[in-house]
Amino acid sequence: MKKIAILGSTGSIGTQTLDVVREQGDLQVSAMSCGSNLDLFEKQIREFLPSMVSVKDEALAKELTDRIRDLSGISIRFGIDGLMAVAAENDATIVVTAIVGMLGIRPTIAAIRARKNIALANKETLVTAGHLIMPMVKECGVSLLPVDSEHSAIFQSLNGERENRIAKILLTASGGPFLHKTKAELEHVGVQDALKHPNWSMGRKITIDSATMVNKGLEVIEAKWLFGVQPEQIEVVVQPQSIIHSMVEYEDGAVIAQLGTPDMRLPIQYALYYPKRRPLSGERLDFARISEIRFEKPDSETFMGLPLCYDAIRRGGNVPTALNAANELAVAKFLNGEISFLTIYEILEDAIRNTAFVADPSVEEILSTEQSVYDRIRSKW
Ligand code: NDP
Repeated sequence: MKKIAILGSTGSIGTQTLDVVREQGDLQVSAMSCGSNLDLFEKQIREFLPSMVSVKDEALAKELTDRIRDLSGISIRFGIDGLMAVAAENDATIVVTAIVGMLGIRPTIAAIRARKNIALANKETLVTAGHLIMPMVKECGVSLLPVDSEHSAIFQSLNGERENRIAKILLTASGGPFLHKTKAELEHVGVQDALKHPNWSMGRKITIDSATMVNKGLEVIEAKWLFGVQPEQIEVVVQPQSIIHSMVEYEDGAVIAQLGTPDMRLPIQYALYYPKRRPLSGERLDFARISEIRFEKPDSETFMGLPLCYDAIRRGGNVPTALNAANELAVAKFLNGEISFLTIYEILEDAIRNTAFVADPSVEEILSTEQSVYDRIRSKW
């Protein structure tokens, strides 16, 4: 039986990974972590009986110890050390990185060093540390497969084409809940409006990133690392129905796409079983009902997430880290009602322009860039 570890089992990707485990019946969860949702985590532990678990901090670890006193043989850890221990747990051969944010960097590195294959949902790790992660994956002889639906679609469209030259990657975007809104209208949008994604049900942070289009920009950076292409070779196309999950155009003009209903269990399952496809329950596309597939150009004047991310990649070094860190804190502040929607862009622009440049940042330099960006934002907003 294949054993897996899940970082972030209580989140949107984490719970859907467990749905796949339930449906397939031949995967075993040997380790998993959560942040602070102990009620759900306890249920998951009782159902999947992993040998190692981790929670956000020591107080939660104590509470969890009390709650599962009747279960034996489960090692309970906490904090970043706990996440790294879950990532490197002995029995797992695949680690699903379903935690949110730059917190994923060190556990992902721990997993790669422990020779685990990675099913990567946590895009912030590649955005900030892709230059360290990708060579490490090669050196340790492991695979890193995308869980993000767009990147899974690109990966599937590249099957059997490794010898052929990519002309460009067509990265699709739904446009989020505010598609077609003007800047003036965006001045008044609130948290609940931004959390209403038209097609996908996801965690709160990525849902806001979809509304700002920062998510698409982070995905451009993720695609650059995963597929070894230049940012200029990646074109973002708005496809509001989320039917086409992304496409690859080859040098002869042929375009290969992957289509499907918006269901994250498919890319999760594909990453867990690659190169095999397995049956999966759920809705199927009904082309007679769809009748048309619409495309648009992204409105980068209004939704500055995309141009800001392209700017950060072009500047390189630790600038994508500065942008990502600024985005993590700005989104948290927006969700907390402390800043307006459009202030998110202002904060990102400020971080890109004012962070001290480091050309080839180490993990420590990435984390210190994060801290200095946080300090600056907290002093200004
Ligand atoms: P969620 O917010 O739904 O889940 C995040 C997970 O991380 C939860 O299990 C949460 O635990 C845990 N967590 C949060 N803070 C901490 C902490 N300090 N220490 C330990 N664990 C913590 O996020 P998503 O599932 O939506 O996203 C996860 C990643 O996948 C992100 O990088 C996102 O960009 C990417 N992704 C998500 C998609 C989706 O459909 N959701 C699609 C493509 C990519 P708890 O809830 O217990 O506090």
